[in-house]
Amino acid sequence: ETLTIAIDGPASSGKSTVAKRIASELDLIYVDTGAMYRALTFQALESNVNIKDQKALVDLLEKTDVTFEPNEKGQSVFLNGRDITYDIRDNNVTNTVSVVAAHPEVRVLMVKRQQDMASNNGVVMDGRDIGTVVLPDADLKIFLVASVKERAERRHKENKEKGIFSDIDQLKKDIAERDYKDSTRDSSPLKQAEDAFRIDTTKLSIDDVVNEIKKLIQK
Ligand code: C5P
Repeated sequence: ETLTIAIDGPASSGKSTVAKRIASELDLIYVDTGAMYRALTFQALESNVNIKDQKALVDLLEKTDVTFEPNEKGQSVFLNGRDITYDIRDNNVTNTVSVVAAHPEVRVLMVKRQQDMASNNGVVMDGRDIGTVVLPDADLKIFLVASVKERAERRHKENKEKGIFSDIDQLKKDIAERDYKDSTRDSSPLKQAEDAFRIDTTKLSIDDVVNEIKKLIQK
């Protein structure tokens, strides 16, 4: 039998770190749905497609193949075979992706691709609407939250380790703004599923969160 785990939550709440760990420990496929919206955004910015033009984005998406490949650090993301793992984390993508993701017709296509990836595989999938829309019958649903301050500080530390300087106040603003856009859009906004377990990670380590989820899986 296959196990499906849905992990949702706001920006920088630790979803991908935790999802990757759970996937590797339980030998499940990890699907980063945010990377799919980021890849389309990257493609649109690069090919000068107006991110407010839903029809143009849908046309672009139909020509855009996004695939994942596991590596030592987690996974690489490919757009039509080109490695865009790092490009999709750029600020210009991060700060515009919510506009792209708000188009209902873009979401219909994305959700279908995500459901296909989970149809024959055990998966850990992270995003904003996994427990509510993509995998409503998931075996386990988790909703991760953390304070804006904590999330900005984590991002700041990660950036520093990569040699990137960032301003904590700016990070706080960007995170709060993305959460606002993601949770107020009309089409499947960021929302906790009724049957999801909510975990506040503000004062928890990654190990704590992973262990808590593993306990919930065993139940
Ligand atoms: O998870 P990540 O921060 O990489 O997601 C980037 C953006 O993609 C989110 O801010 C949101 O706008 C969009 N997204 C979404 N639905 C998902 C995953 C991501 O709308 N399932």
